[in-house]
Amino acid sequence: MNGYSDILEKYGVDAALVTTAPNTFYIGGYESTNCRILLTRGENFFFTDMRYFEEATDFLGGKFCVRLGGVGEIAQLAEQLGIKTLGVEYGVTFTEYELFREAFRGIKLVATDSAFADLRAVKTSAEISLIKDAQKVTEQAFEEILPFIKKGVTEIDIAARLEYAILRRGCELAFDSIVAFGENGSKPHAHRSTKPLCEGEFVTMDFGAKYKGYCSDMTRTVALGAVDDAKSRAYEAVLQANIAAEQAVKAGVRCCDIDAVARKSLAKHGLDGYFTHSLGHSVGVEIHEMPAFSPKCEDLLVPGNIVTVEPGVYIPGQFGIRIEDMVLVTDCGVEVLTNSEKKLITL
Ligand code: ZN
Ligand code: ZN
Repeated sequence: MNGYSDILEKYGVDAALVTTAPNTFYIGGYESTNCRILLTRGENFFFTDMRYFEEATDFLGGKFCVRLGGVGEIAQLAEQLGIKTLGVEYGVTFTEYELFREAFRGIKLVATDSAFADLRAVKTSAEISLIKDAQKVTEQAFEEILPFIKKGVTEIDIAARLEYAILRRGCELAFDSIVAFGENGSKPHAHRSTKPLCEGEFVTMDFGAKYKGYCSDMTRTVALGAVDDAKSRAYEAVLQANIAAEQAVKAGVRCCDIDAVARKSLAKHGLDGYFTHSLGHSVGVEIHEMPAFSPKCEDLLVPGNIVTVEPGVYIPGQFGIRIEDMVLVTDCGVEVLTNSEKKLITL
């Protein structure tokens, strides 16, 4: 009996093979570039190579039977254990699947669909605490960057300093930071450039720290000097959409309905047509997880979901604004995990 026996039960399989990095980390809590986990109704097995074997044995010894080897050795073990049906997770490449078909001849392979993604959607208190720690560092990096935002500084300068602020606090980057000035801001995922910052422009910064394997994600848009009326009205509209959507978050509500709240709020200002992506995504071991605040996601929110709320307005050739927080669905409503100021900061 182990924590994953429900998945074996649900899909009617004797064992499940887990090979994608986010899921092996989620299950084992140990990061390596070569590991495969075999979950069975008895013991669980962790297969790796000599580079990781000693460390993995020390780290995982109580939880897993750590062994040397790859798919061939797992196939031999599966035969010894009399495994007839084997679960294969989402995200396995076609090449890997072909390898499995060859190695596990005589064993029926069964897709376990999004079983692990579904588990990961509901964060434990330990995971919530790591994400909060990651977010704390993200906010410290934001505070640290503000004094450097001056006329003539480039997007690359800001991104490098933001990332250094995260790295020197012992975290990794959750993803490559996005820093976009002025008209570059109208591309939600703009690539950073050597464009110098000018007065009256917005600076959109989307970045996050990863702490002990868990990500955080935040976007703030600040202004250098006074911005014109159109920009300041658009900023207010995005802020209102962000707040309205966050207030609507609670267990039992469909994700698509939260997305709709933000779109309706922007529509009041005639700006919904300029909000060109989904409202948000879950965050955890990966920066983009399920469920998502998208018009298509009908999943019901449950306590333990951590999802971003990131409405934006993007006017091509002119400017862009995005305000992104992370929120935790709780038993009694919502906890906003992002504490950085979100009223327009003018530098
Ligand atoms: Zn982001
Ligand atoms: Zn995001």
